[in-house]
Amino acid sequence: MGKFEEIKEIIKTLQPGFNVEEIELNEAPGRILREDVFADMDMPPFNKSAMDGYACRFEDIENELEVVETIQAGVVATKIIGKNQCAKIMTGAPVPAGCNVVFKMEDSEITRSNFVRCTNSKTHINICSRGEDYQSGQLLLPKGTLINFPQMAVLAGAGKSKVKVTGIPQVAVITTGSELVEPSETPPTGKIRNSNASQLISQLRKINIDAKYFGLANDNFEELTTLFKSASEESDFVFFTGGASVGDFDLIPEILEQQGFTVFWNSTGIKPGNPMTFAQNGNKYCFGLSGNPVSSLVQFELIVKPVIYQLLGANYKPLRIKVALADDFRQKIANRLIILPVFINDDGLIEEIPFHGSAHINALTNANALMEIEPGVTKINKGELVYVRQL
Ligand code: AMP
Ligand code: MG
Repeated sequence: MGKFEEIKEIIKTLQPGFNVEEIELNEAPGRILREDVFADMDMPPFNKSAMDGYACRFEDIENELEVVETIQAGVVATKIIGKNQCAKIMTGAPVPAGCNVVFKMEDSEITRSNFVRCTNSKTHINICSRGEDYQSGQLLLPKGTLINFPQMAVLAGAGKSKVKVTGIPQVAVITTGSELVEPSETPPTGKIRNSNASQLISQLRKINIDAKYFGLANDNFEELTTLFKSASEESDFVFFTGGASVGDFDLIPEILEQQGFTVFWNSTGIKPGNPMTFAQNGNKYCFGLSGNPVSSLVQFELIVKPVIYQLLGANYKPLRIKVALADDFRQKIANRLIILPVFINDDGLIEEIPFHGSAHINALTNANALMEIEPGVTKINKGELVYVRQL
């Protein structure tokens, strides 16, 4: 099993441990449902007209029909429809007793005052039957569902004005690297700007987490330890970027071990983004991501997101889709899972974009997806399908 496959197995074993809170429905988008939600009634709750038109008995469809009443949405019919009768009916209104078809306004012709005829004997039925979408007592959304727009509609339809969801974790971000200055500064020779923190913080925001930024730290054991302790005290997750590798000043794995954390892994088997630490101490977790921005972006998408969702109790599966290559793909032998920024063009085909490696951040601004090349694959021909994830 490759390293990345191993990591995916470890992630499955992590136990969700965050508090559950009850919130107002309108606060729910982006949150993780922590209760099973069942239907409290049939949907639709009555036989409902799907069209503006006339409701009648199908056997009378070719006859001239007397219009006995008009039924608007929200109003119950007062009359039972008999032979050669109909009711004018609006979309969403309950179909009156005795009717088994609604022919639409466009398929009708007024023959004389209060009389109408259907001009299309092959009309659809145009009735949504009671309970055809779901039935009372049916499970609508299982615990662990990520709440997005469609789930909001279902929750509202089920009368859930309050929902139980996972609490939002406290998250700290610490950037490490003695070579870094903040974006507001002009870096002197030998230094570069910290482009990583803003990216990471916005990736977190996209999964509904507001991180607290603890600033830049030099590659100094004491300085990092002090900052880590204060970040860790008030956070469930601490993120480091930089210092996760095996250079002389890559101190994160050592600091974590000294602070009593158990390290799950120190490498990912992914290129870019091989050095990465994930560790746990009780209900505190720490990620040590690569310093290179492209690496840390990839690590977040492929690993951090599944870890966080697992710990928050979400049933999360990343969306990976197979898309055809616009041109032949060739590379030298690779023993890791390769992730490449690519552009899916107007024809829906994958185009490679110039990419110089893990520090090449502006390559990503021209990309709209990440392409996955399995370990050991050196050539894929034009037209063949490859997995991509949308960026
Ligand atoms: P590290 O993970 O600390 O070994 O860093 C790997 C590479 O990424 C080095 O070239 C660093 O200078 C660069 N790097 C580290 N942190 C950042 C950051 N926050 N923003 C931009 N580049 C970084
Ligand atoms: Mg460094």
